[in-house]
Amino acid sequence: VNASGTFALEYAGVDAGALEAVRRAMDAAAPGLARWGGLAEPVTVRVYPSHDALERAVGREGYGWLKAWARYDEVFLQSPRTWSLLGVRQRDLEELLLHELTHCVMYQRAAERGDWSRRRIPAWFREGMASETARQGYRWPSLEDLARFYEAQPGQDPLGAPAALYQGDSDIVYAAAHHAFGFLVRRYGEEGVRSLLAGMREGRTFPQAFERVLGLSQEAFERDFRRYVTLRGFRTGRLQPPGGGSAPP
Ligand SMILES: [Zn+2]
Repeated sequence: VNASGTFALEYAGVDAGALEAVRRAMDAAAPGLARWGGLAEPVTVRVYPSHDALERAVGREGYGWLKAWARYDEVFLQSPRTWSLLGVRQRDLEELLLHELTHCVMYQRAAERGDWSRRRIPAWFREGMASETARQGYRWPSLEDLARFYEAQPGQDPLGAPAALYQGDSDIVYAAAHHAFGFLVRRYGEEGVRSLLAGMREGRTFPQAFERVLGLSQEAFERDFRRYVTLRGFRTGRLQPPGGGSAPP
């Protein structure tokens, strides 16, 4: 038990040396997780001794950049011992664990253990919430980069249809997710996000809870975000009022 919640740690003997760093990172996650109500249930963190072992455990192959995976009450973690020959920076580990534990908080606040994997939450919201909470924006392309991506590849939709881009161009998908979630929080506040998750836990789908809490449809929000990016609304710092600007151009 620490400030973030209750944890169990599973690991192979070879990774015993990494445990203290993992424990400290879980402790450091507490304030970030508290923004969204914190963990409601205990989480098991499983440390895998190699990248291949992690991929096998989560059933995903060919994602060389993947270091961790989260479920409702589990985090699968490639041992930080293996991240780099030069050793891992504590800050990187804290960032990653806060990201993954934010996923756990989201699932626990939006669903129950028995149904969380069937409750659909759009990838941009899942990853944007985790990335924004862990302050990972510096890792991803900027809003200007995203604007140029939309111009260069108007047929692609890293927000609404990220699957085609995820494996090969994950950075632009994470960038779109991160910036869209930030846009959402600036417009509707953290309370809007907490209410949205609570609305799902009461049985609504994500689109239903989104529209009920925020007063516009998920599709309208996604269109607003794309327009905000392509019109460089981020340069002026001016935000459209909630629901505004959703008519076709
Ligand atoms: Zn994630």
